[in-house]
Parts: sequence; C-alpha cells; structure tokens
Amino acid sequence: MNVLVTGNLPEKVLSLLGEMHAVEFHTEDRPLERSRFVEMVGDKEGLLCMITDRIDDDLLQHAPRLRVIANMAVGYDNIDIEAASKRGIPVSNTPGVLTDATADLAFALMLAVARRLVEGDLMTREGGFRFWAPMYFLGHEVSGKTLGIVGLGRIGKAVARRARGFEMEVLYHSRTRMAPEQERELELSYRDMESLLSRADFVSLHVPLTPDTHHLIGEKELAMMRESAYLINTSRGPVVDEKALVRALEKRTIAGAGLDVYEEEPALTPGLKELNNVVLLPHMGSATVETRSRMALRAAENLLAGLVGKRPADCLNWDDIHGNSDRRA
Ligand code: NAP
Repeated sequence: MNVLVTGNLPEKVLSLLGEMHAVEFHTEDRPLERSRFVEMVGDKEGLLCMITDRIDDDLLQHAPRLRVIANMAVGYDNIDIEAASKRGIPVSNTPGVLTDATADLAFALMLAVARRLVEGDLMTREGGFRFWAPMYFLGHEVSGKTLGIVGLGRIGKAVARRARGFEMEVLYHSRTRMAPEQERELELSYRDMESLLSRADFVSLHVPLTPDTHHLIGEKELAMMRESAYLINTSRGPVVDEKALVRALEKRTIAGAGLDVYEEEPALTPGLKELNNVVLLPHMGSATVETRSRMALRAAENLLAGLVGKRPADCLNWDDIHGNSDRRA
C-alpha cells in the first residue's frame, strides 16, 4: 500500500515501513507545505504525520484512499478527529512513551527560570563572571516550594513524582479528581483553579489543547498568581493567552515563565524574547534520542495495524467509527 511519512524518522523505523509498503517520505526538518502535502497524500492509504501537519476536513477530501492516520505525538489537536471518524479513518497518537522526557523538561524549565541558568550561561560566556559575591546572581529555590499542576494525566503525574524528590508540596487541578485514598498515596492535594493559582510558587500546565483549555490561563488567571510565582508551559501554546503573559512578565506581576510551546508557533508574541525573566525553548519536550525513537516506532506500529484493518493500539476513534462508546479524552 502507499504510505506518506511527513517527517524524518530513525532509519530502523523507515526500513520497517519500507519492507512492507511503498513509502514516500518528507525528510526535511521543516513542515510539509500545504500544497505539496495535498498533492502527496492524494494516492496514499496510510499517513504517518507530525503535530505541524494540519489534518482537517479539507485535507481529507484530497485523500480519498486514506485508511489510517498515525500521529507521532500524544497531543492530537492538529487533527480533526470528527472529520476522520466520519470517513471511517482510525486516528492514533503515541501516549506514554514521551511522558518522562516531557516531565524532565518541565522540571528543567522550573530550575532554569528560577535559578537563572540561561542568564548565567550567557553572562559567563560573555566574560561577565569576574568574582563570587554573596548577593550576586540570586535566584529562587525550587526545593521545598509549592507546585501547582494543572492537568493531572500521565505527564502531570510524572512531574508530581519528580517534585517529591525536591520535597515540594504538590497541589493539582484537573478535569477529573482522583479518589481521596489515591491523593493520599501520591501525596497530592486537589484545589480549584483559583486556590491553586493563588498558592503555588510554580504552576505547571499539562492539559491537552481542546476548546475547553484554550486560554485556560489568561489575564484573570495570571492576576491570581503570586508576584513571586513562575508559570511553566510544556503543554500547548494556545492554553496560555501569550499577550496577557507578556504583559504580566513585563509588569512583573509574576516572577517569570518557562515556555516550550507558543500560541502561534514558531512565532513569538512581540515583547517575549526581550524579557530576561522567561526561558524560551523550541518545542522540545519529547526531543531525546530515546523518546523520539520510541514515538516513531509506536506511530509506525499503529500505522501498520491500521493499514491491514486492525485496531491500532493507540486508536483514538475506533469506537466512534464502529459505534461503541467514546474512549477519547
Ligand atoms: P493525558 O494523560 O491525557 O493528561 C491530560 C490531563 O489533562 C488529564 O488528566 C485530563 O483530565 C486533564 N484535562 C483535560 N481537559 C482539562 C480541563 N479542561 N481542565 C483541567 N484538566 C483537564 O495527557 P499527557 O500524556 O499527560 O499529555 C498532556 C499534553 O501535553 C498533551 O496533550 C500534549 O499537548 C502535551 N505535550 C507536549 C509535549 C511537548 O513537546 N512540549 C510533549 C508531550 C505532550 P481527564 O483525566 O479528565 O481526562
């Protein structure tokens, strides 16, 4: 069957697909242009795609032979699942395999912004480190502080586990509250959004991007945060109103932010990059050799199952297509 892979994958995964199917690859490290994407997908039965690919009703109209879509990401806000289900096309993601890498990065951002790692590195390279002094280059501690996790799923829980090693108090807010015995076991306290935002020293976002979470953190929520608090976003850019965030960072109504994702990725809201109380990363939450290999393999396995009419292990809409209850988040 004909397969389109829209990103550069490890050799091992490319050959696994190539052994069984006629595979066309887009191997440049830049997203496929829309017109080229439309052209390439037209005769394909399988699509292994990236979060930078917009898979909407219009694209699907140009892909009449498509039998499966395998997204190489856990988030699937780039795909119109309803449009795919309507056409009977199973869609899969890659949950779990990127949890630790993303949780590590959220923690790295907390440490980087609170302990001023990027500022310190730049200054040292530029020859600015001339002496040690007691009040020189002070940041704020992460250890022992209060962490507020918004969205307690796989990654949120992994961040909470790491926080225990830093002896942090961990509060959480999520769509579904855990049972009290589970909260006790994991040493987590549930809070409504307002109380979490007003108590936490670090607020870390781990929700998926959905209509409900779009601008979950806006002007009002930022105003609820402490002046000494830091916002960490490794979820999706549009979960935060970036213009409101820039205003809060400029006026120092919050202490700082660590961002891996942006509202109009890869563009940055004007004013953001001029600020020294923010650490900015290029959407690299899952970007480790180990994790990207696992994600590619998992996406390929999902694709191979879908091509032969089997349920992909990480299928998001099988029940929608086949008439059972909805399994999706
Ligand atoms: P997950 O296990 O599905 O966890 C998401 C959590 O958010 C769930 O507990 C969910 O609640 C909760 N939630 C959903 N809507 C909510 C709302 N409106 N208000 C409060 N909580 C809500 O997903 P995950 O694997 O942890 O991944 C989370 C997100 O991280 C992904 O969707 C993706 O966008 C992002 N991500 C980014 C990177 C990166 O490179 N920066 C890497 C990996 C993932 P329920 O329990 O009720 O469903």
